[in-house]
Amino acid sequence: LYGLGAGDRLLCSLDLGWGLGSLLVERGVRYTPLFAMVAGRVDPLEAYRRLGEYRFNVLVSDPFWLARLTGIARERGRPGPMKLLLGGGEGITERTRAELEAFWGAPLCMTYASTEAATILAFECTQQSGYHVNEFDFYPEIVEPDGDGYGEIVLTTVTRRVMPLVRYRTGDVARWEPAPCPCGLPFGRLSPLRGRLDEQVSCAWGNVHPEFFEPLLRPVPGLGSDWQVSLYERELTPVVQFRLELEGGGDAARERAVQEVLAALQRGHQEAWLAYCQRLVDIEFAFFAPGTLRRQRKLLRLVDERPSGPPDWVGRAVHRSRPQ
Ligand SMILES: [Zn+2]
Repeated sequence: LYGLGAGDRLLCSLDLGWGLGSLLVERGVRYTPLFAMVAGRVDPLEAYRRLGEYRFNVLVSDPFWLARLTGIARERGRPGPMKLLLGGGEGITERTRAELEAFWGAPLCMTYASTEAATILAFECTQQSGYHVNEFDFYPEIVEPDGDGYGEIVLTTVTRRVMPLVRYRTGDVARWEPAPCPCGLPFGRLSPLRGRLDEQVSCAWGNVHPEFFEPLLRPVPGLGSDWQVSLYERELTPVVQFRLELEGGGDAARERAVQEVLAALQRGHQEAWLAYCQRLVDIEFAFFAPGTLRRQRKLLRLVDERPSGPPDWVGRAVHRSRPQ
């Protein structure tokens, strides 16, 4: 599938503590001729130091770990040739993916898994156009699809005897990719996840998903891969608050980020832009140092804080903007 074989050397740094990812990799590689080390969530700096010596050319990890490793390697130099990056655990932005692939000169293929599924549900091939379903183990359905075919992924396990699942609701939103994949694998393909049901927010901009915001953030220079958008209400006005991690964030960099996001909104979403100009929606920006937004393993990209208001830690990081 990925063209790996004898002579390739794999390092897996997925969490060994409570996650299943490392365990699956550790069991899976026994059926391959790869040299593999499943080290658990090791410090990326230590992994970097060993990369050249151990000649790892396949890395399996969470996207944020790969991003941190790449940051280190950028400063100190690329240790050796890389063949494949395999990401699991959560989604990745197209921008981060492009940066990692450009730096390592290797494709980054993502997997889709969950704790309840207890294994990989679906995975990207090197075409990177959707996730091939693991049809040996699962029968997924898309329920209540919208006009574009997007709906919740519902799972039924096919072979499992321990904790079988029947039409289990994942909360993840995707659709089927209708065309066969050029790679030739006959397994059905799910689109990239559009978000989670619990991340879908209805507001003056309509039903918005995290993918609404990602293109707005793509043109901003110096932005980290973690970000969050919150919707809350300030004295009846709905506020869309962008929480961004900016490298070396001086005032000029912040102002530039604000202008880039607003310009992208104006270009790409005229109705949303109009609602902003009409003061139906306010937009705010809050800037943080890299690495501070992620408080849990999974960072929700879009949160509805209308009932509670934004949390205290956002506090003074806020930078208001006004439509001209
Ligand atoms: Zn394929």
